[in-house]
Amino acid sequence: MSRHAVLITRMIPEKAVAYLKEQCDVEVNPHDRPLTRDELLAAAKGKHAVMTMLTDPVNAELMDAAGPQCKIIANYAVGFNNMDIAAATERGIFLSNTPDVLTDATADMAWALMLAVARRVVEGDKVTRAGQFVGWSPLYMLGPEVTGKTLGIVGAGRIGQATAKRATGFNMKVVYTANSAKPEFEKATGATYLPLDDLLRTADFISLHVPLTPKTKYLIGEREFGIMKKTAILVNTARGPVVDEKALAKALQTGQIWGAGLDVYEREPIVEDALLGLHNAVLVPHLGSATFETRENMGFMAADNILKALGGEVPPQCLNPEAAGKR
Ligand code: NAP
Repeated sequence: MSRHAVLITRMIPEKAVAYLKEQCDVEVNPHDRPLTRDELLAAAKGKHAVMTMLTDPVNAELMDAAGPQCKIIANYAVGFNNMDIAAATERGIFLSNTPDVLTDATADMAWALMLAVARRVVEGDKVTRAGQFVGWSPLYMLGPEVTGKTLGIVGAGRIGQATAKRATGFNMKVVYTANSAKPEFEKATGATYLPLDDLLRTADFISLHVPLTPKTKYLIGEREFGIMKKTAILVNTARGPVVDEKALAKALQTGQIWGAGLDVYEREPIVEDALLGLHNAVLVPHLGSATFETRENMGFMAADNILKALGGEVPPQCLNPEAAGKR
């Protein structure tokens, strides 16, 4: 029997590619950049499976370009806002994502940003490198204490809960919001459920962990900044469009909130100009899951989903099991 043909749309850790290559013929985008749309459509043609990135729109056009033999499109990400689930289901194509394996790495990044903003780590680094450190001073570069404050988790799923668990070491009070209350999480961490507006009024640190959906687009905008504390720090490791970036820049410029840490942007890789010059924003280039271990594990998980689907089974991290009935 001939081997299945698989496309991986970006270079991923070599071990995960080698694992897939044991059973399939694998083509990997050789460039250190996303494929152009035309390149992607051409490369997908005739493939039995495609491993996509969050930067690849996975829509009917891509599925039709791949062809009817395509059994699965496996996202190398937990977020799947780039995927058209209905179009895939209609065509009997499974979609999958990579939950859990990136939870800790992303929660760590949320904390890296919270600490960096509050304790002015990036600003301090710049000043020091510029030769402007002239000696310790009692009132120099102060920031808000982290220990003992209130952390607001917006979206208490896998990553939101992992971020909240880390707060116990800082003796923080945790408040959270989600579609539904999480009794087990409350029991384990002492967290309290609050409606979003009450959370925004109460929290000193607000960390976003919702998926990007039509409901969460611009969840945080001008109105929401207006009800946050002037000392609040907002951290976004979810998806850029969850925050209205222009409204955020204004809130930071006018002192409506104290600071922000961003891993994701509304129009990636473009970053709102107004944010770039702000000393109270820490900006990192979408590095939430960027650890050696996590990126390798994401590769193995996406590969396992592909292998299961090619073997005729519903993949373990399937987003649309109902596609099974359509083939
Ligand atoms: P998850 O387990 O599905 O958690 C999402 C949480 O958001 C759930 O608790 C859900 O509530 C809540 N939620 C959904 N819609 C909501 C709304 N309208 N209002 C309030 N809460 C809402 O997902 P996860 O694995 O933690 O990942 C979360 C997101 O992080 C992903 O979708 C992805 O976009 C992003 N992410 C980013 C990076 C990065 O590199 N920066 C890495 C990984 C993930 P219920 O549980 O009550 O339904």
